[in-house]
Amino acid sequence: MEKVIIIGSGCAGWTAALYTARANLRPLVLTGKQPGGLLTTTSIVENYPGFPEGIDGYELMVRMQKQAEKFGARAQFGSVEAADLSRQPFALTVDGDRVETETIIIASGASHRHLGLESEHKLENKGVTYCATCDGALPMFRNQSLVVVGGGDSACEEALYLTRFGSAVHLIHRRDKLRASKIMAERTLSHPKIKPVWDSVVTEVLGADQAKVTGVKVKNVKTNLESVIDAAGVFVAIGHVPNTQIFKGLIDMDEHGYIIPKRGAATNVPGVFVAGDCADRVYRQAVTAAGLGCAAAIDAERFLASRNE
Ligand code: NAP
Repeated sequence: MEKVIIIGSGCAGWTAALYTARANLRPLVLTGKQPGGLLTTTSIVENYPGFPEGIDGYELMVRMQKQAEKFGARAQFGSVEAADLSRQPFALTVDGDRVETETIIIASGASHRHLGLESEHKLENKGVTYCATCDGALPMFRNQSLVVVGGGDSACEEALYLTRFGSAVHLIHRRDKLRASKIMAERTLSHPKIKPVWDSVVTEVLGADQAKVTGVKVKNVKTNLESVIDAAGVFVAIGHVPNTQIFKGLIDMDEHGYIIPKRGAATNVPGVFVAGDCADRVYRQAVTAAGLGCAAAIDAERFLASRNE
């Protein structure tokens, strides 16, 4: 039986692993389908303290894993399919196998939100993508007109990254002001290749008949006028949804699926703790996720110590 299982291998997960490993708890980290989490799809992380030149997101996660493993953390590639939290020890089903554990730290992060269009779904990986750093350099996008949807930091980051490859980048946002931080917004709007399309939503991704993206149909939400923007790629960057579905009905969460922590990192189930983006609607930064991972680890360690007393 495990003492601590950490679900998720992003900043929160590996930081929780580092702390619980150093407390001699030999944590088992279940990586999920995307080892390293969403940060591995970011190019350069400029706001993680300690790296004045910035650090590649993938590299940062590899370093976090190495640091935790140095103290005895173990990684297992796998996803949790079901959880029984009704009695101690807790039981998790991981890719068909049952594992038992005294405590759980849920650090399952969040996934990209989709527009919810049928045409988007049909053309996924045929020009529709959710990650410019993963896909932007593909030949199909080189010297082409490209579209980014969204108005936050992610959309700005994607748009700026894509200026390296595309001939023009249309940034389609549903309002007339970016949500992104000031520095990102300024960098984005001053780039000669980036063309903002304000007050607009994508109503259809075009090209399903050719099995590749050829453009988007866009509606101006103020005038209701529709237009078409030709493009070879659509990069959707409209935020995230927490990866908490398997805990629905077991762990208290808000209406959007974010887990509600109680007293630090505890949840409504004693022995189950939470950290990172799956419980954070507000900050969602690498450094806050890491901090919350540390808090969850300390709370789990204290829980185990108090049980043993
Ligand atoms: P976000 O800040 O939640 O922004 C999502 C954007 O998508 C918003 O502009 C939103 O519009 C728009 N949107 C949401 N649903 C939509 C829909 N159905 N159709 C069209 N547009 C939609 O998400 P994010 O940009 O992924 O950022 C998440 C967090 O990570 C933030 O805290 C951000 O600061 C951080 N982050 C930081 C960096 C960096 O510092 N370099 C990079 C990436 C992310 P409205 O504005 O109208 O709500």
